[in-house]
Amino acid sequence: MAESQCSLCGSTRVQSLPLFVAMVGAGPGLRKEWLQPEEVSLSRGRPLLIVAVGVVALISGAILPGILVAVGGAVWLSRVNQTMRSNEKERKEWLGKRICLNCEKTFPPPT
Ligand SMILES: [Zn+2]
Repeated sequence: MAESQCSLCGSTRVQSLPLFVAMVGAGPGLRKEWLQPEEVSLSRGRPLLIVAVGVVALISGAILPGILVAVGGAVWLSRVNQTMRSNEKERKEWLGKRICLNCEKTFPPPT
């Protein structure tokens, strides 16, 4: 009972958000914020390439530039990984989200 009650207006007309979106369809009544976050696809290839270039520079004697480039590539790579992880988390969370049919507030699944 408590899990299917709106925390804003107290209505019990609460439904699964993915189900609600599927029912509303792509009509004009559909709001952008109800949709599942789009999947971010970033390539790890380019940051990895930068790291490789830095390592090659390092090996061939350009120590300081090699370190700078390799570290820069590694930082970029970790940002790419972080962005992809949080995007994946948001998309998963959306699957459990609920919407109040009375006030249209969306909220995360009960924990
Ligand atoms: Zn409500």
